[in-house]
Amino acid sequence: MELDYIIVGCGLAGIAFCEQLRQHGKTFVVFDDTSQIATKVAGGVYNPVVLKRFTEVWRAQEQLDLAKPFYKNLEALLDTRLNHEFPVLRRIASIEEQNQWAVASDRPNLKKHLHPTLIKNDNKNIVAPFGFGKVLNAGKVDTKKLVSHYIAYLNNRGSFVGIHFNYSELESSGQGHHYGPYHAKCVVFAEGFGMKQNPFFNDLPLVGVKGEILTVRAPELRLSHAIKSSVFVIPEGNDIYTVGATYDWDDKTNTVTDKASEQLSKQLKELIICDFEIIDQAAGVRPTVKDRRPLVGIHGSQKNIAILNGLGTRGVMVAPMVAKQLFEMLEYGTPLDDEINIDRFRKL
Ligand SMILES: Cc1cc2nc3c(=O)[nH]c(=O)nc-3n(C[C@H](O)[C@H](O)[C@H](O)COP(=O)(O)OP(=O)(O)OC[C@H]3O[C@@H](n4cnc5c(N)ncnc54)[C@H](O)[C@@H]3O)c2cc1C
Repeated sequence: MELDYIIVGCGLAGIAFCEQLRQHGKTFVVFDDTSQIATKVAGGVYNPVVLKRFTEVWRAQEQLDLAKPFYKNLEALLDTRLNHEFPVLRRIASIEEQNQWAVASDRPNLKKHLHPTLIKNDNKNIVAPFGFGKVLNAGKVDTKKLVSHYIAYLNNRGSFVGIHFNYSELESSGQGHHYGPYHAKCVVFAEGFGMKQNPFFNDLPLVGVKGEILTVRAPELRLSHAIKSSVFVIPEGNDIYTVGATYDWDDKTNTVTDKASEQLSKQLKELIICDFEIIDQAAGVRPTVKDRRPLVGIHGSQKNIAILNGLGTRGVMVAPMVAKQLFEMLEYGTPLDDEINIDRFRKL
């Protein structure tokens, strides 16, 4: 079968690239073997501020400007709601942080994202004596639903192959790339942490940070906004909340652990005083990079073999921006930003 593209990976990176292809009338097929599950277990929160330090996220406005129409188009394509916009309330931990918030919310680049007035806590089940700072232009994308609906959409048009992509079976020549019955002009690898097994790109410094989240039921909590304290608490409706996430640099498996469950429960108990019941736990590996920037570019000697990876801890916001850049580079020769181009590691 003659195609423009073969895509490996149907997480946020793969989906964002497929959307570029679909919108530009390109033909493609997507392989996914479910070996990585970062997108499926992600909290899905996006917000333009680094909540630890009250600084703006790298290229926040550019990312938001692309992400909002991207998820809106997907909602129309898949006929389902994916993007839930709501402010994130950052629990303020001290008088010192109250002052830091006042300074940050007055900075020109943060003014539009941070509400200047702190909010008093009026929820008797939450411990927040110093109140909350309100972060605007934030929300949550239901990434699990996105993946399942997108795969169903691809299946309907015969563009999904739910098996492992075996790198050694890819045959490349000046005429393109053969894999099984497919012949494509270009192959894009978007395997998340699975990139570690990819012989074309596994020299790149993808680190991988495991994250675990809990799903809890807390009928008395009655939250309508997401709260960020030492953990995120994200309302999912019907008294269900997502609580997360942990960061583990050593373990690279998708296996849930008691240690993470205990840590998240402890952090939640520091924030809320009502009862909660854990109803689920999940784990995945975030594809993070040494310098915290995405990995985008083409293979050194195989010109039409490309990578879209390194989405790190903020895949929801960054995926549409990097997918657009990769598409424009492959189709029109537009240079990639140096900050995301994998050549930055080759130069070293
Ligand atoms: C617990 C947790 C919470 C998170 N919370 C947030 C959040 O709130 N907000 C946010 O923006 N980000 C969050 N993230 C980060 C976010 O999940 C990632 O940035 C993003 O999902 C990465 O997407 P990806 O497509 O690169 O990788 P993945 O989602 O891992 O997708 C890669 C896909 O490639 C497939 N694959 C790999 N190798 C092969 C192969 N050889 N053949 C076939 N298929 C293959 C895998 O099965 C997988 O489906 C969180 C991550 C975790 C783990």
